[in-house]
Amino acid sequence: MIEHLVTDRWGGVSQAPYHEFNIAHHVGDDPRCVERNRELLKKTIGVEKIIFANQIHSDTIVYVDDPSLTPTCDGLITDKTDIALAIMSADCYGVLLKAEHAIAALHAGRAGAMKGIVSKAIEMMREDFGEEKIEAIISPGIGVCCYEVGEEILSQCDPVYVRGTHLDIKAMIVDQLKRYGVEYHDYGICTCCNPDYYSYRREGVTGRFASVIWRRA
Ligand SMILES: [Zn+2]
Repeated sequence: MIEHLVTDRWGGVSQAPYHEFNIAHHVGDDPRCVERNRELLKKTIGVEKIIFANQIHSDTIVYVDDPSLTPTCDGLITDKTDIALAIMSADCYGVLLKAEHAIAALHAGRAGAMKGIVSKAIEMMREDFGEEKIEAIISPGIGVCCYEVGEEILSQCDPVYVRGTHLDIKAMIVDQLKRYGVEYHDYGICTCCNPDYYSYRREGVTGRFASVIWRRA
């Protein structure tokens, strides 16, 4: 049975500006708070092992089965049970993929989405694990309503995704899913509009929420 969870910012022990349920070590929060929050996350989902990535806005996807490692990448994929895969974000989208044998968690912000990380993960699931039916979950992330970008960035983007001076990252993700016929559930929440989620655009220094997927034995 495959399960998933997207956390929000409430219920943890971190202090402002990371309050409350920050699960990321790289943002300047007290490491003891982050560890406590990660323990709370494990309790919440009922899984002892969670693999996080050292995220770098790439399209690198790594097969993982060793919870003692933190690979440098933006996509985690496994066919193991009782190991959860977690993506941290605060405006970027977490895209979770599930299929018969494999599960994946992707960090899809502007850079990752433009590089096609979602397409790449679907192809890996098909080629490496023989998956046919794949389903996706799109976490909250910054909506086109709030994602205004500069001319330099706009000029690099496919005009299909440009709305005036705003960029539609979710449309990039959805197009990649649709291209492969992958059905998806979209939380439909803009992190910059909704204070229940961390938003880098709204807050600057802040925490990260988690998009987590796991297969229970
Ligand atoms: Zn918004």
